Amino acid sequence: MAAEEARYILAIDQGTTSTRALLFDKSGSPMRVRQRELTQHFPQDGWVEHDAGEIWEATLAVCRGLLTGGTVAANIAAIGITNQRETTVLWDRASGEPLHHAIVWQDRRTAGICSGLKAEGKEPIVQEKTGLLLDPYFSGTKLAWLLDNVPGARPRAEAGELCFGTIDSWLIYKLTGGKRHVTDATNASRTMLFNIDRQDWDDEILGWFDIPRSVLPEVKDCCDDFGVTAADLFGAEIPIAGVAGDQQAATVGQACFEPGLMKSTYGTGCFALVNTGGKRVQSQNRLLGTVAYRIGGKTTYALEGSIFMAGAIVQWLRDEMGLIDTSEESEAMARDANPMSHVILVPAFTGLGAPYWEPEARAALFGMVRDTGAPEIVRAALESVSFQTRDLMDAMGEDMREAGLTAPKALRVDGGMVMNDWFVQNMTDILGRPVERPEVTETTALGAAYLAGMQVGFYGGTKDVADHWRCEKAFAPEMAEEERNARYGRWQGAVKRVIGG
Ligand code: ADP
Repeated sequence: MAAEEARYILAIDQGTTSTRALLFDKSGSPMRVRQRELTQHFPQDGWVEHDAGEIWEATLAVCRGLLTGGTVAANIAAIGITNQRETTVLWDRASGEPLHHAIVWQDRRTAGICSGLKAEGKEPIVQEKTGLLLDPYFSGTKLAWLLDNVPGARPRAEAGELCFGTIDSWLIYKLTGGKRHVTDATNASRTMLFNIDRQDWDDEILGWFDIPRSVLPEVKDCCDDFGVTAADLFGAEIPIAGVAGDQQAATVGQACFEPGLMKSTYGTGCFALVNTGGKRVQSQNRLLGTVAYRIGGKTTYALEGSIFMAGAIVQWLRDEMGLIDTSEESEAMARDANPMSHVILVPAFTGLGAPYWEPEARAALFGMVRDTGAPEIVRAALESVSFQTRDLMDAMGEDMREAGLTAPKALRVDGGMVMNDWFVQNMTDILGRPVERPEVTETTALGAAYLAGMQVGFYGGTKDVADHWRCEKAFAPEMAEEERNARYGRWQGAVKRVIGG
């Protein structure tokens, strides 16, 4: 392939609800996008599955969809992959056939395994070695369930006949025609089987589940040689050169390359990550410690926290409460609300996440008066996301100061909800720190493109990528300190009442 012909990086963004492929040019602008929705399977209450075969076919279709209008494989310098994290696939090494539907990160079927291990006092070991908490979310117990419940799986795994992987591994295996069984350090760090200090699978934890090492993929850097696509797929071989789980890819797409740089993505839920540099911070606030990225053999760590309901609250206002017709209307409604309103919504519809971790808590509205109406409730719903972001940022700051690092001073945001200027300004006011919204909000796919592009020399190093990052709108705090403290104090009081603390 002649280097001058390679005008694009192809990013695959395999998400929970859809599979997308995007072409990025040298400037990091998305040039073309293809997308396919993904079928969700709910075989039992609390179970969520995807068909790994459907994911593969959709990936192939969206990638091929980009190779039109004169764009051919030779124009693609490399492929980058980003993916829904933790979702677990088990397949036959020889035939490439999955043994079972993929078990999706949201699936709670292994809650019993997790509470059993917790009762045995294993959670501190998990936290210490993997940075994670004992929760069905992560891949380890999902893989154990597959080995225990798919007939014949365990002896076949022991005989080296099976491959486990997160979605990145699965796609690379298929893209390379079954030649590579690999993953990257960020995806590995979400399995609960990977020791993030030693950067290797952890034999003690593998032992709890009788997981043979032969079933596990080789763990590579985020910028690395992940093999080449089988020539018959796209008409020529294309190197796969960059991989990261979705939230880590967004961290790269937001160019959070220095300790203290923090990004937060507001989709259905919200995921916030702060770069802690080469230092692994042990959280005292039940935040997750994870790999932000690993480049050139050097691991950069992050602290991560999530908000279960972010955009989902806006959907609730629209679909269950009927207070708005479209998500966009929430902005005008919040602006119309009485600014002196003291209404607080604690949106614990499915419990509260970090730093509270109260799965049994349930939502409540506080502070309503006779003239409270729809605008005040809409405002309280949006503001609850701001308050939870403040909770996360404060917890991260506390953990970082404890570790001798500087607390995050600003926040970079993306995701569907940040198109709402009222919300972002309110969050800025509640945080009392500047918030920046980038020009390219496709940060997840962009991060995958950057990782692949850095590996093949299409982009320079992280410094070049950081120079590419452009702010579309910078928000500065406008609220008086006293009001910020009063509002945040009311939120903390309301949370206490909800969790009975
Ligand atoms: P996901 O990737 O999780 O599907 P997106 O990043 O596409 O999510 O964001 C969609 C979410 O953002 C939806 O929950 C929607 O309600 C919310 N949303 C979209 N536009 C707005 C807006 N203007 N104001 C508030 N919320 C919005």
